[in-house]
Amino acid sequence: MLRIGLVMLQGARHAHMRALNSAADELKTSVEIFELHNNNDLINANPHAIILPGGESTTMRIIGNDNSSQLLPELFRMLRRNSELPVMGTCAGAILLSDPQDEGGKIVDASMERNGYGSQSESFQSIVDAEIISREFPGVFIRAPKFLSLGSDSVPIALHGEEIVGVRTNNRIALTFHPELSDDNGFHKWLLSKTLEVNS
Ligand code: GLN
Repeated sequence: MLRIGLVMLQGARHAHMRALNSAADELKTSVEIFELHNNNDLINANPHAIILPGGESTTMRIIGNDNSSQLLPELFRMLRRNSELPVMGTCAGAILLSDPQDEGGKIVDASMERNGYGSQSESFQSIVDAEIISREFPGVFIRAPKFLSLGSDSVPIALHGEEIVGVRTNNRIALTFHPELSDDNGFHKWLLSKTLEVNS
């Protein structure tokens, strides 16, 4: 049974749960999803993989760094201790991974610009070339960030035209779109497959 930690600071968590469960069915494996609100939830779950959903990164930082939660400091500590731990950060989740704003280094080695396409009205859907799963993928971009530059520990894993919209550092992926809001569970399947591989 794979234990998957789902960060619950904000965002489309039910969509992630649906995608994880259907991905697990297709891979003929089983998952237990742990909802993470605070540092103790994370320590108790001791997850095999983590999903950091989107939302509003400033709000997520305030909630996750608050004394009542302390989820973000514990999460970043755990990820720095274990560079193999599979993680998928989507949209605002990707922003937090590339810019943890604590005393440590980046979790995903890239720089991002928030709201890189403009405001809410610039939200759009478009096909993405998802190299990491070797096929096209329906990208849902909501007030999406843009990658400004990639560090030497990063490789691009998804493109929208010439634009890099997904990046990987070790087993951590940061996506500027929302894979959980399409009916394609390809990225959740990638995460679970990687998690099975790391724990085999
Ligand atoms: N624009 C948001 C931010 O900067 C991210 C949007 C999203 O996660 N859909 O945090």
